[in-house]
Amino acid sequence: MTRGDGADAPYWEGLATGRLMLPRCDGCDRWMWPAGRRCGLCGTIGSHWVERSMAATVFSWTRTWHRFGMTESLELPFTSVVAAVDNCGVRLLGLLEDPDRIDPRIGEALVGRPSHTLVGADQIPTIRWSRIS
Ligand SMILES: [Zn+2]
Repeated sequence: MTRGDGADAPYWEGLATGRLMLPRCDGCDRWMWPAGRRCGLCGTIGSHWVERSMAATVFSWTRTWHRFGMTESLELPFTSVVAAVDNCGVRLLGLLEDPDRIDPRIGEALVGRPSHTLVGADQIPTIRWSRIS
């Protein structure tokens, strides 16, 4: 599935091929997330995409016990995590591989792997996060 031609298309294309791609401003080299055409800091129009490792820490999380629309493919309960990618501050949402349902700790180290999640009728590229320990 293609993710269109929006400013974040390289992110989705990267995930679909197993890579985490994030944009940096062509002017000030700042990480630009969410992706956009113009840097909110220096005003430069243009960015370049850099592959990052999927190393991160827990910024926030929630466990979902009740089904809502478009989550039919997920086994309940599932844990969503906002992960702060190491050394760039970009925060990404993904699912935590959480077989023991142990509460994550804020700041806990994570490693991601590319995956897909069935949302409605579409396979969406996603990151599945796991605890390192
Ligand atoms: Zn900039």
